Order: sequence, then structure tokens, then C-alpha cells
Amino acid sequence: MMEQRKVYLREDEMPRQWYNILADIAMNPPLGPDGNPVSPDQLSPVFPMNLIEQEVSTQRWIDIPEPVLGVLKIWRPSPLVRARNLEKALGTPARIYFKNESLSPAGSHKPNTAVPQAYYNKEFGIERLTTETGAGQWGSALSFACSQFGVECKIYMVRVSFDQKPYRKSMMAVWGGKCIPSPSPFTKAGRDALERDPNTPGSLGIAISEAIEEAVSDPTGKTRYSLGSVLNHVMLHQTIIGLEAKKQMEKINEYPDIIIACAGGGSNFAGLAFPFVLDKMNGKQIEIYPVEPAGCPTLTKAPFVYDHGDTAKYTPLLPMHSLGHSFMPPPIHSGGLRYHGMAPTVSQLVTEGIFTPKSVKQKEVFEAGVLLARTEGIIPAPETSHALAAVIDEAKKAKEEGKEKVILFNWSGHGLLDLTAYEKFLSGGIMDIELTDKEITEAEKIFAGHPKPQLLKSHK
Ligand SMILES: *Cc1c(COP(=O)(O)O)cnc(C)c1O
Repeated sequence: MMEQRKVYLREDEMPRQWYNILADIAMNPPLGPDGNPVSPDQLSPVFPMNLIEQEVSTQRWIDIPEPVLGVLKIWRPSPLVRARNLEKALGTPARIYFKNESLSPAGSHKPNTAVPQAYYNKEFGIERLTTETGAGQWGSALSFACSQFGVECKIYMVRVSFDQKPYRKSMMAVWGGKCIPSPSPFTKAGRDALERDPNTPGSLGIAISEAIEEAVSDPTGKTRYSLGSVLNHVMLHQTIIGLEAKKQMEKINEYPDIIIACAGGGSNFAGLAFPFVLDKMNGKQIEIYPVEPAGCPTLTKAPFVYDHGDTAKYTPLLPMHSLGHSFMPPPIHSGGLRYHGMAPTVSQLVTEGIFTPKSVKQKEVFEAGVLLARTEGIIPAPETSHALAAVIDEAKKAKEEGKEKVILFNWSGHGLLDLTAYEKFLSGGIMDIELTDKEITEAEKIFAGHPKPQLLKSHK
């Protein structure tokens, strides 16, 4: 019999609703400048009201609008793939499966939320979106989504990536997005950052501040801001990954023992993992691992605090693990994972022990990426390779223990525009970067005066 590699869903089997984890977990509220919980009205200059409603909704299932399904169908449902070549290369008894999210037009999971965000903004009468991008994945995803719904798109790209990644810029331009380097002289947040350090490489925190500032200061009121990770509605949109995966595994009578994804702001991880959380709360034995870089160890080393999502403190205080809103992450080769904070929903479930975060170093990350390219064929994004390093680790453990573990992971994107980093690795130029405890303690001083979130328990 031929060995099956992929499990497909038909288009009419695609999930019609997103899963909203806020129905099932306890959360600390975001806090405004006055120290009180933020009201939806306070967010209305930044986001359209239909998305704010999703951000605060506690309804468990939320319908995916038809026009959104129509665009998602350009590449969804994504296949569930059995990584048989990797299994053989490692000689592991583990069965390893992944969701291939690299097949979207922009090459990552990010269009899963870019498309509904562009749609809801358009529905609300918004004509223009501003956003930030690190490595360029989010900027290209939102440019694509805006082109589908006729919305303008302006992107502040972190300076180092703007200089190092010309082809992400070209993608944005092809889809009609306008991309400028951050910090820029066009916003107060940008000018302040340039004054502090004229040669700054920039950071996601600064770029977010610039994009928010431009959105809220448009006198026509037709501009809003869009964020590619961290927020509740972003996690919600990404759950289509895990909902599909669950259906696909059911079709072949499998259920994961271990779930793994990389975590920058938490969205591709949440997308895969959230639909399995209730099962775990109800007693299923599943290990769920978000994986982050040792150079930006938000979940593994930083405390659970109230902190801002951006450098200029325009966002509310969010209950999350944070390295501090002014933290400048070291220049690791995974722009999508260089963020000081984490999705509050992911942070909450880490504090409850539902998720067990891990960190990995750059060299093992690239070794894993190259092994996967040479076995499964797809060249992974360096972000994805963080998950791959952890997958290989678990597969080896299963081999030592002689256990037939079922591992499910998320292939969050391809690395076809990250080849400079691969070249550097292949010529021996990639170093391990680890943040020291001293650097972390120093970074933490920034939220000394902030209120403290409560330690809540969602389940018995
Ligand atoms: C942006 C990105 C990530 C990290 O973002 P999350 O919100 O943590 O998912 C991971 N992988 C790829 C390919 C990305 O583009």
C-alpha cells in the first residue's frame, strides 16, 4: 500500500466559524491611561468598531463572513502533512504532522488574519490602514489582503529589515502597499526615536507607535491601524489552522500528544493550539509548547506584568509576559520573533501551566531548518525553524524512550526571502545569542511602577 503523506479537506469542509478562547478562560482586562479597564470607545480611533467587538467578545463561536471565506479559499484549507522523510532521517517511532501555512500568497499564516481585518475595516467604511512590519511578512500579508478589498495600505518597516530585505518591499509594492523605514521623520514617535539614536536599527515597538500615531491623527477619520499578532481578534482569526488540523487528524484517527509552534507575538502558535486547549483542561494528556528564541526569551524568562505593546506607550497596558516596551531585541535572524511582549491570551495560559514555553538558540534553529529543507523539501522561514528545533528534540526523545508519540506542529512560513540568513549560516556566520539575566533585569526596570495583573485560574 502507498504511504499517505497529506490529508486534505474539501473547500466545503472548511471551518465556517472561528473559535474564541475568551469564552473559556479568565483574563485580566487591558488598562487605560487612568488605570481603569479600557472601554471599547477608547479604542475606536485605532480600530473599527466591528473588530473591537470581536476583541472583547466572549462568544465561543464566531461566524466567518462569506467574503472572507471567499478570499481564504485562494489557498485554504491548507494540507496536513505527515513528515515521513524527517521521521526516517531521525529513525524515530514518533509520527510527525504539520500544517503547511507556507502556501498562502504571502508565504505565511499571516494572511489568515490580514484578510478578515481588511474586510471588517472596509465594511466599517475605512479607506486606509496603517501598520508595522518586522521582517516584512506582516506588511506583505496586509498589502495582499488590502488589494483584495480595495483598501489603501501604509507600512512602517523596521529599519534593519528595510535595508536587508528588499524583496519583501517589492512584494508590498506589487500588491499596492506603501512601505517606509521606521523610525521615520514623519511621526513624533519616529522623531523621538531618531533623536535618541540617529543610527538606530529600529524595533517593532517603535514601528507600532508610528503606525498608531498616523492612524489616529488622520483628520478625515477614514484611517485605522492594524496589528498582525498579539491581540485577541488576531488569535481568533488564526484558529482556523487548529480547527482544520483537528478535522484532518480525525479523518485518519489521530490525536496529538505534543503540539509545537514558534511564538513571536503568539498568533500562529495560538492558531494551532487554542482549539485543543479545552480538551486539555478537560483532562486530555497533551503537551503544548510555544518555542521562542533564546535571544528574545519573553515567555521563558520575562515576568507576567502589565506593559505597553509599543515603545511610545500609545497602546493600553496589556497583561502579558514582557521584556519591557523599550527593549531593543538583539539582531537575531528571525524578525518575526523579535518582539518584547506576547499575546495576553497565550501569556495567561502559560501562567496556568496549560502551555510550557521553550527557548532555542540560533545555531540549532538553522541546523533544524536545513535538515527539514533536505528532508521535507520546503525551505522554512527562520521563525518556523524555532518550532522545528523543538520538534526534532521531541522526536529524538521519543526514539530514546521507544514511544510512538504523535507530534503536531505548525509550518508557519517559507524562507524563500530569508536566503541571506541561510547563506550566512552555511558559511559559518550565525552565532548563538542569548540574553543574560543581567540584561533582563535591566530591561524590567521599565515597568517598575505599573499595576500588577492577578494570577487567575480558568479551570479546576
Ligand atoms: C510573523 C511570523 C511568525 C511570528 O508571529 P506569531 O504572531 O508569533 O505567529 C512566525 N512565523 C512566520 C513565518 C512569521 O511570518
